[in-house]
Amino acid sequence: MNVVLLGAPGAGKGTQASLIEEKFDLVHISTGDIFRANIKGGTPIGKLAKSYIDAGKLVPDEVTCEIVKDRLAKGDIAGGYMLDGFPRNIFQAEELDKFAHIDLCINIDVDISLLMDRICGRRVCACGESYHVSTLNGATECKKCGKPLYQREDDNPETVGKRLDTYFKQTAPLVEYYEKQGKLFTVESGKLSPKEVFAVIAEELERRVK
Ligand code: ADP
Ligand code: ZN
Repeated sequence: MNVVLLGAPGAGKGTQASLIEEKFDLVHISTGDIFRANIKGGTPIGKLAKSYIDAGKLVPDEVTCEIVKDRLAKGDIAGGYMLDGFPRNIFQAEELDKFAHIDLCINIDVDISLLMDRICGRRVCACGESYHVSTLNGATECKKCGKPLYQREDDNPETVGKRLDTYFKQTAPLVEYYEKQGKLFTVESGKLSPKEVFAVIAEELERRVK
């Protein structure tokens, strides 16, 4: 099964992606992670992507679509995959439909008023885990692997404001795009904990795998 994970920045896509990956054996493909790895490695793609990411804008479609297309050409995705952070606008969704078959779009719906605090209080680990300062009790290391936690450079109020703006203008219309295709499953994350959100998603995935 091939899945698209949709949700505003801070909706918890990354957290759900790790849980889904563990239980359902879907290859997790995050365009944000791919860009960050390129920035760290100082590649030409990284250099180009950084200016857009720092400005809270989308990296140009030609670059992003090419990266995803190449990634989906690898054999390891044959058993199913999960796209996290792609597509992020209608153009990307239409391109994706040309080179891939998507079965399901999981849309994580969250109260917008929570997002700014969630993202600005986020601390992440190189292993992929993320935390919120309010639950860390001052800890500075990852509970899973012990590496030091850090704050993403684009997790500051100014850039987050721009990212949310980009999301509502460009990405939110994808909800309707997948609804029209009959592929949309929305989780109202409301007051649910990450584990409870996962339980709802897992139930839907299990139903569809059968
Ligand atoms: P978040 O969902 O928290 O905003 P991501 O890690 O998914 O974080 O993305 C970080 C940044 O990487 C985005 O703000 C954007 O600049 C860039 N990016 C990621 N995915 C895409 C994409 N599909 N198209 C264009 N830019 C992207
Ligand atoms: Zn870690």
